[in-house]
Amino acid sequence: MMSKMHWRITLPFVILILIVMGGLSFYLSRPMCVGDSNCVRTAVLTTAIILLISTTLLGLFISSRLENQINQLTTLTQHLLNGERDTPLPRQGKGVIEDFSRTFGQLVDQDNELIALLEEERNQLSEVLVYMADGVIIADQLGHVHQINPAGCRLLGTTADKAVDHTLAEVLRHHELIDLWQRCQQEENEQFAAVEVGQNLFLQAVITPFQQKESQAYLVILQDLTTIRRLETVRRDFISNISHELRTPLASLRAVMETLQVGALKDPPAAKRFLSRADHEVDTLTQMVEELLELSRIESGRVPIRLSVTAVIDLVEIPVERFKAQAKRDKIKLILDLPNNLPHVFADADRVQQVINNLVHNALKFTDEGSVTITAFSPNKTPKSIKREILDLPPSIVICVKDTGSGISPDDLSRIFERFYKSDRARTRGKGGTGLGLAIARHIVQAHNGRLWAESKEGKGSTFYFTLRTA
Ligand code: ADP
Repeated sequence: MMSKMHWRITLPFVILILIVMGGLSFYLSRPMCVGDSNCVRTAVLTTAIILLISTTLLGLFISSRLENQINQLTTLTQHLLNGERDTPLPRQGKGVIEDFSRTFGQLVDQDNELIALLEEERNQLSEVLVYMADGVIIADQLGHVHQINPAGCRLLGTTADKAVDHTLAEVLRHHELIDLWQRCQQEENEQFAAVEVGQNLFLQAVITPFQQKESQAYLVILQDLTTIRRLETVRRDFISNISHELRTPLASLRAVMETLQVGALKDPPAAKRFLSRADHEVDTLTQMVEELLELSRIESGRVPIRLSVTAVIDLVEIPVERFKAQAKRDKIKLILDLPNNLPHVFADADRVQQVINNLVHNALKFTDEGSVTITAFSPNKTPKSIKREILDLPPSIVICVKDTGSGISPDDLSRIFERFYKSDRARTRGKGGTGLGLAIARHIVQAHNGRLWAESKEGKGSTFYFTLRTA
């Protein structure tokens, strides 16, 4: 059986030969040629020459067409190899070339689909890497960085441009991390370590060797454990602070009891003095336990907050009145400076008064001379510097308690809202207090969906701000 291809090549030749032969027989059958051997010889010779030239030309024509189509396919393959996947398929050609071209086209389409799928998967993977909170670095056998995600750049304080193609040692820049990678390289197994990078960054690093194509590669994962570490510190400090706070009144109580036991009981005026000291210590302990219980109740949402529409003056006046005598005694000006026409707010009056009590009490406690001012800003009159802090809150009144006291150091400022946190100055100056007041105040404000924060300059004074939603 002849194939299609064979027919396509053979048929033109057969037709050509038939035409030439037909011409020859027509020529020979003419009366003037019958019996003329010269005529026959000339006719056969001419026919042979015509056949030779025409078959050569036809052969050249057919082979050049084939060559042309094969060239097109070769060029297409070349384009595809160069990654130019949009190159159109040759549309010319018939028969086998057409079939081949079509099959090749299907192959290219399939290939394109596969590549699109792979590209989609690769994009998804890159998206995951971009949005991952953990830092990821991929390095080759020699430790040259091939890929680093944004979290990796952020944690190591670099950029992808600066990191890619540089060595891990240059990118990690921390001797413990570099040691870890070298250990991983030598031992060829996973290595991990918790590393403190600088003062405020605590990382857990895991370096894993893996096989990439023919050679070894390394995957570095950096997890930011700073917050967890900070929470651990807060918890540790909380336990140590509560023990410390309990130890002082308990030691004092023990001293009082021992003194009474060894004879002070027989001296009524001394016994009275000691009993009043014991009474004071018991008060301190009771206050601490009550504040702790209060804090835990507010934190767990067990204290119901009953919001009602209230005038700001009704929230501020009572606490200010309460502290007037103390301020006068300490020669500190206690100023209530509320603007007119303040909108009403949603507040649980008792709770908000408790917040103002705590803030004013602290302000007086940490101010030796000068003033303590209580003021408020309505939403349309809030200064820009304060507005920045509450951009995401609904329209709110900001109440401020400002003092000209000792101020708070930046380190303390970030921690004063933690339970039991007291600055060293507060401890060393023997200022009373449990260190729970601000923690309670912040929780009350948060239960009102508001925000409480502070600004301070050491030696210049502090300002505490909190927000209440306008009614
Ligand atoms: P305390 O009962 O000890 O006052 P707080 O939680 O109210 O506890 O305050 C925690 C710490 O914050 C205080 O010990 C003090 O160091 C600091 N602090 C609070 N308010 C002020 C202020 N107005 N001026 C300076 N320091 C302050």
